[in-house]
Amino acid sequence: MTVRSPLRAVLPALFAATVLVAGGSAAAAPAASPAIAPPDIPVADVQAQLGELQRIADENGGNRAHGQPGHKATVDYLQSELDALGFETTVQEFSADGDTGWNLIADWPAGNANEVLMLGGHVDSVPNGPGINDNGTGTAGLLEVARAVAEQDLQPNKQLRFAWWGAEELGLLGSGHYVQNLPAAELDKLSGYLNFDMTGSPNAGYFVYSPEGQPEGSAELTDTLNAYFDTTGVETELIDLGGRSDHAAFADAGVPTGGTFTGAEGQMTEEQAQKWDGTAGEAFDGCYHQSCDTVDNVNETALDRNTDAIAYALWTLATS
Ligand SMILES: [Zn+2]
Repeated sequence: MTVRSPLRAVLPALFAATVLVAGGSAAAAPAASPAIAPPDIPVADVQAQLGELQRIADENGGNRAHGQPGHKATVDYLQSELDALGFETTVQEFSADGDTGWNLIADWPAGNANEVLMLGGHVDSVPNGPGINDNGTGTAGLLEVARAVAEQDLQPNKQLRFAWWGAEELGLLGSGHYVQNLPAAELDKLSGYLNFDMTGSPNAGYFVYSPEGQPEGSAELTDTLNAYFDTTGVETELIDLGGRSDHAAFADAGVPTGGTFTGAEGQMTEEQAQKWDGTAGEAFDGCYHQSCDTVDNVNETALDRNTDAIAYALWTLATS
């Protein structure tokens, strides 16, 4: 989750035309049910990946930030995992603030290539720390969901594309680079983009991105994520992140977007504390962008639920 302003102002006018095309073809629909039962992702496996990300930070000066060796080491680690699972991976290089950054893209070679469901989150930390909740949690959750896809040898109707974005903390630069360089014909194939950034905040809130003001079709993504949380009995709140994460470039290009978030520097209210069993008056993540954002800065229940939400949404949207 970045503190910086969205890309909105710098995206080229080209995308204004694309908005009409994508918006017109993606009608909102009621949340569907998955045709194949979604897996329960073992949270211990997600925690093990957080341990790997902590190790990578520890071995590389304490962080995984853009321009620092821990960023590339993280990308290399994830790519080797995904290659071994049978994904087709691409590392997209870009330049930002005088340093090289990388996006990792992993396609699952099945499904209709003209209808692509994308799921992503940022892979860089801030320079201050290892970035385990922000955004090791989304990074590791997406990896373990990708592993479940491979282990089931899932044959979805839609093609699945996972993304781990670089330079999010500098102002959403990696995802912006990807969208700006995606040919219009490829952009039109995207049926939706789901973003997962900070899914294990210690004083966890359960937020789902609001579809209001987002491209047509976004409500279906929101409804699908909420359908998962309904099965857990957890009440969610809609949130407008104001373009503070990597969905912003996709939304600006007319792609339906959604995602989940467990809170950053904001403080939990009394009402939220009661329904989420949290602490009122404290930040959702008291270690947001600090050196204490380590493996000890993760709410395992929130991480478990949000990772299962990723799987539920993927299985629902890609197999129904
Ligand atoms: Zn952040």
